[in-house]
Amino acid sequence: LLEADVALPVVDLIKEDLKRELVGRKIRRKLDMGELVEDALRNAISNALSAELVNFNTYVQNHRKPVVLMFVGVNGSGKTTTIAKVIYRLKELGLTSVVAAADTFRAGAIQQIEKHTNNLGVRLIKHDFGSDPAAVAYDAIEHARARNKDVVLIDTAGRMQTNLNLMDEMKKIKRIAKPDMVIFVGDSLTGNDTVEQARKFNEAVTIDAAVLTKIDADAKGGAALSIAHAVGKPILFVGIGQEYNKLVSFNPRWMLERLFEPGAAS
Ligand code: GDP
Repeated sequence: LLEADVALPVVDLIKEDLKRELVGRKIRRKLDMGELVEDALRNAISNALSAELVNFNTYVQNHRKPVVLMFVGVNGSGKTTTIAKVIYRLKELGLTSVVAAADTFRAGAIQQIEKHTNNLGVRLIKHDFGSDPAAVAYDAIEHARARNKDVVLIDTAGRMQTNLNLMDEMKKIKRIAKPDMVIFVGDSLTGNDTVEQARKFNEAVTIDAAVLTKIDADAKGGAALSIAHAVGKPILFVGIGQEYNKLVSFNPRWMLERLFEPGAAS
């Protein structure tokens, strides 16, 4: 597990689970010990991964409109790309979207999201660089209500997660926008850092689900397990490339196979 980039505290928790399952258990002599341990290990990992999996499509289709989704995560994690991929998915479902450019901290952030909303033909609600991000989110929700749009996607700032102002800003956006779902976007390539970020955002705004990006470039995928275990929240999607259609539902079984694949950690 360590070789597959699973965080040490998570490995320890899985070891505890394993101990509880195996110690004192009577086994028939013929039974293969290795197999028994591997089965127990698969169970322990599977439990950690399947934290109340959400069916996103059903959720957004059946929920009262507009559904408000707030995306959080540090810069470079793939948040903007993920928002674009979700818009694409919503379009495929026949649902309309509006995006709030609530990362008003970086001058380039508004242009970055605008490039995608132009490509995808959806409305972007933006204010000037440096303005109040919560006000942008509020306006986007008002717009969705007035125009009967189905989903509001809020892009937020992502300077260092240790930055207290950022967390205050996230809290304010959450207070004003009252999102139905706070979605943490984490880079699977940054392993333990991603787990730490997820924890910080979870403390500040309580995340409901996570998206793990760049799984296509991560041979091991241990970050998925670490995040699921560390914050106890389901992994909604994984990003498997840069194109809009490269966002797929997370499949715990697939992750498990990947972890146990011979050579997966090399
Ligand atoms: P943000 O700063 O968090 O908004 O990050 P961006 O959305 O700009 O993404 C940062 C970089 O990661 C961009 O070059 C994206 O194309 C790339 N990226 C995002 N998601 C994925 C993914 O699932 N796979 C790969 N290979 N690249 C990705």
